[in-house]
Amino acid sequence: MNYILLTGGAGYIGSHTALALLRAGYQVISFDNYSNSSATALKRVEKLAGGNIICLSGDIRDEAALSAVFRQYPVAAVIHFAGLKAVGESTEQPLHYYDNNVGGTITLCRVMREFNVKKLVFSSSATVYGDAKTVPIDETAPRSATNPYGQSKLMIEHILADLVNAEPDWGITLLRYFNPVGADSSGQIGEDPNGIPNNLMPFISQVAVGKRDKLNIFGNDYPTADGTGVRDYIHVVDLAAGHLKALQYLENHQGIEAINLGTGTGYSVLEMVNAFVRVNQVEVPYQIAPRRPGDIASCFARPDKALKLLGWQAEKTLADMVRDSWHWQRQNPNGYAENK
Ligand code: NAD
Ligand code: UDP
Repeated sequence: MNYILLTGGAGYIGSHTALALLRAGYQVISFDNYSNSSATALKRVEKLAGGNIICLSGDIRDEAALSAVFRQYPVAAVIHFAGLKAVGESTEQPLHYYDNNVGGTITLCRVMREFNVKKLVFSSSATVYGDAKTVPIDETAPRSATNPYGQSKLMIEHILADLVNAEPDWGITLLRYFNPVGADSSGQIGEDPNGIPNNLMPFISQVAVGKRDKLNIFGNDYPTADGTGVRDYIHVVDLAAGHLKALQYLENHQGIEAINLGTGTGYSVLEMVNAFVRVNQVEVPYQIAPRRPGDIASCFARPDKALKLLGWQAEKTLADMVRDSWHWQRQNPNGYAENK
């Protein structure tokens, strides 16, 4: 298991996983169309790891381009990050989302089968649990989707399960990420959203660095301890480590498993803001705003299956998460772009 293909390898989670893989001695191939990322991220990963990445520009919907990769390199397994992830945009452009996420995954699997590469780690999401009835959420909880992005993840989970059912020699891990935050402690790579961030942590960081006036806290009347929404924030470096464990697991397992990657602890929006302010000694002005449509009150993982099957559990603390997010933002106020 030496050559690992990362679709979407230049993105936020892909770049951190590429770093972990290089440091662990793997050969990393990134295949990315840079629709939501910059090749600079991978240059920085190479520098941090002191190694080279095979950086390829291409779209996973392009069967010929993907086939050329498998023809040229002895790919042992694929970690499939490539996908569009903006919930609001998915509602406005459903066909684009289904084409890119679902269509792209089908093309990828077809090519993998052609080259007899049948080990796949897929970036799924806690969004597949919809509005879960109980927390913590384990992998057997009912699944549903409330927007085309979530629906695309759910469809892919079903497609991959059907594939394994028909062809049992595949080994597939569906990693259901909770809320990834943070950055490599170097501050050299991190999350670089386009335009106004949808997610909480990049929004807090951009307020702290002075790019935005204040944070809107979407609702303080949820049935949670302080009324603001609760999520399971997980440090991206822990998440990256989970991918290495999933690859090791696939070395001697076939079939399909869905596995939560979360910490098991939920924090509220106010707890996140307060931790950011306390640890980083910066100001984050905020106001209470109406609830965001579609948001749920509380979502956090039962992470036991990851520990049992993969021997993985999150190690980073809340202080690590807010410190590393800030470190990246402060050093790169405009992300990877020179003049954003
Ligand atoms: P990201 O946007 O930073 O990375 C995705 C990468 O895929 C980008 O580099 C993008 O350019 C690339 N890409 C998109 N469509 C492509 C295509 N057709 N062909 C080739 N490359 C393509 O996002 P991320 O946060 O690193 O997320 C990675 C994966 O994890 C995504 O599938 C996302 O849905 C999933 N996920 C993310 C989160 C999160 O909050 N960040 C949570 C749960 C699941
Ligand atoms: N949130 C907020 N203001 C923002 C962005 C997010 O109050 O500008 C809240 C949101 O309502 C939710 C939590 O922060 O309770 C996490 O939101 P995010 O979009 O990061 O993740 P998701 O809702 O997809 O889990």
